[in-house]
Amino acid sequence: MTGNKVLAVAGGGAAGFFGAINAAALCPELKVIILEKTHKLLSKVRVSGGGRCNVTHACYDNKLLSENYPRGRRELRSVLQNFGPQQMTEWFAQRNIKLKTEEDGRMFPSTNTSETIIQCYLSEAEKYNVEIRTGVGISSFEKHDKFVLSLTDKTTLTCDYLLITTGGSAAPKNYEWITQSCSHKIIAPLPSLFTFNIPDSPLKGLEGVSVTHAKVSLSGIKQIATGPVLITHWGVSGPAVIRLSALAARELFELGYNCVVRINFFPEENAETLKQKFISERTHSPQLTVQQLLHSLPQRLRQRICDLVNIKLHNSLGNVSNSQINVLANKLTSFELLMKGKTTFKEEFVTSGGVSLKEVNMQNMESKLVNNLFFAGEVLDIDGITGGFNFQAAWSTAMAAAQTIAIRCSKKL
Ligand SMILES: Cc1cc2nc3c(=O)[nH]c(=O)nc-3n(C[C@H](O)[C@H](O)[C@H](O)COP(=O)(O)OP(=O)(O)OC[C@H]3O[C@@H](n4cnc5c(N)ncnc54)[C@H](O)[C@@H]3O)c2cc1C
Repeated sequence: MTGNKVLAVAGGGAAGFFGAINAAALCPELKVIILEKTHKLLSKVRVSGGGRCNVTHACYDNKLLSENYPRGRRELRSVLQNFGPQQMTEWFAQRNIKLKTEEDGRMFPSTNTSETIIQCYLSEAEKYNVEIRTGVGISSFEKHDKFVLSLTDKTTLTCDYLLITTGGSAAPKNYEWITQSCSHKIIAPLPSLFTFNIPDSPLKGLEGVSVTHAKVSLSGIKQIATGPVLITHWGVSGPAVIRLSALAARELFELGYNCVVRINFFPEENAETLKQKFISERTHSPQLTVQQLLHSLPQRLRQRICDLVNIKLHNSLGNVSNSQINVLANKLTSFELLMKGKTTFKEEFVTSGGVSLKEVNMQNMESKLVNNLFFAGEVLDIDGITGGFNFQAAWSTAMAAAQTIAIRCSKKL
């Protein structure tokens, strides 16, 4: 190995492993070393998707795919085009890993366990002689002709290429070593993908009740999300809420996670159109009960909403006044909940913020400030909504870096 070019990869997570094994496979004379500061490799891959690992999403239109990234939407297009869900599926197939697609587009290994992905990456690393050091992190680096890394075990390591894949963290101090070593700007890290904390919820007692299609919005914030909503012990959750937490991650942080959450249980209507619909139903079917009118909502939710507006569920529409219909339509299309602070549960899956994309060449993930320094994965100011998009961003950015490093190594650059 003497005289061979060396790639050091900071972080033994999803992006780190994928970058390391592909660089090593593409350029056999490259010596690749993964440095993982903990004693655990691929730990998020292991727990991801409830232990099943939602590796990617069956979305093969690059523009549509990129819409799933609140941060990185435009910038990711090139690397997604180069290596997107299609290529990732083929990459796995070449290693005898079959993926299955769920109805909502999420893709998992057909074995239904993240262990399949972990074993694949570990055996690829072994096949291509990737050296893995655990319990050793990078605490700083300097770039002269080569990189000189200062490691947490007080040793140093010299390398030709450095790929930083240290993941996301809501704690700004975890990025300090990067700014101190190479002056890269860090966009303030904040949590994304979390549930809404509603301590005094008028929906208390309805935990577990869900609606399949609702529109969720936030006071003073323009983003909205539609989809299933789930009532939980601490507030509201479900795909629409989690998606909105990602879309409005920064605005919610600025508001201290204090604002009014509005749920429209009839997302195709507004208060006025719903009111007109109800009045028309009353004219045509005065015997219809309120219970029947609201059949699309779960029974317990129907009951709670009617209790809140003082309307009896078994009342026939003929006995419901215009002003009652007005109040009911307002409640159903703009059900207000007061968000107070953020949940401290571990629902948040990703960090928004990280290394600013303005200082990274988003075609090959190389730093615009330091030659042969690369970034991939969640350490960047990139985050996706749930559904396999975060892993896809890790694979795509890591592959772009690996390909560039491999070409440079082959050309002895
Ligand atoms: C519970 C949970 C479930 C998830 N499920 C899914 C899912 O199903 N699908 C999906 O797409 N996304 C999912 N995600 C998000 C996804 O796991 C991450 O986006 C992805 O792991 C990011 O990969 P990464 O390699 O950039 O970072 P990570 O996987 O976090 O890896 C970073 C590694 O770097 C190490 N490190 C940090 N600092 C240093 C240092 N200075 N030196 C050396 N090593 C260092 C860390 O210890 C870590 O091992 C989930 C996240 C969580 C928390």
